[in-house]
Amino acid sequence: MYPDKFEDVMYAFHRLPGVGMKTAERYAYEVMNWEPEVLDQFLKALNGIKKVKRCKICGNLSDQDICSICSDDHRNHAQICVVANSKDISAIENMQSYDGTYHVLNGVINTAKGILPDQLNIDSLMNRIDGTVNEVILALDPNIEGETTSLYLSKLLEDKVEVSQLASGIPVGSHLEYADRRTLARAFEGRRKSKSE
Ligand SMILES: [Zn+2]
Repeated sequence: MYPDKFEDVMYAFHRLPGVGMKTAERYAYEVMNWEPEVLDQFLKALNGIKKVKRCKICGNLSDQDICSICSDDHRNHAQICVVANSKDISAIENMQSYDGTYHVLNGVINTAKGILPDQLNIDSLMNRIDGTVNEVILALDPNIEGETTSLYLSKLLEDKVEVSQLASGIPVGSHLEYADRRTLARAFEGRRKSKSE
């Protein structure tokens, strides 16, 4: 059996998604063999995550109260692109053709998992619709949860602001964050006004 402190490290790695006990054991051996400076850098980086917060406006990850996108005057603040997670912002930013702002819901409606609208960043989105915004682009994954959330938001927003949705092109059931740049750019350009009947 391993010393308690070694096991603590194994269990710490085991908390990560996709890391089983065998892999966790390997990682623990690995870090044990690191030079002290390397280990210190690793711990410093990990500890720094406590300082990463959510932007007070859009919910994106940020070092500051307001993220670099929301505080950028060169971006078009009249456009808000709604995404499920911060990861999706990187995918859209990589496309290099969208210059509006974002809003991170921090998930999608998923009744099977008990995720309901009131657990998502929807109130803060509604607060942003104050007359200065002229388009909300719904950029959620093309799967059942994404569609359900888009429909919910369209109904909530349609009387207040123009709502559009990404054109199809991103394969159904796939994730926005994995869509290649050209497919995503096409889906953006071809976005259509959403009207719920
Ligand atoms: Zn922000």
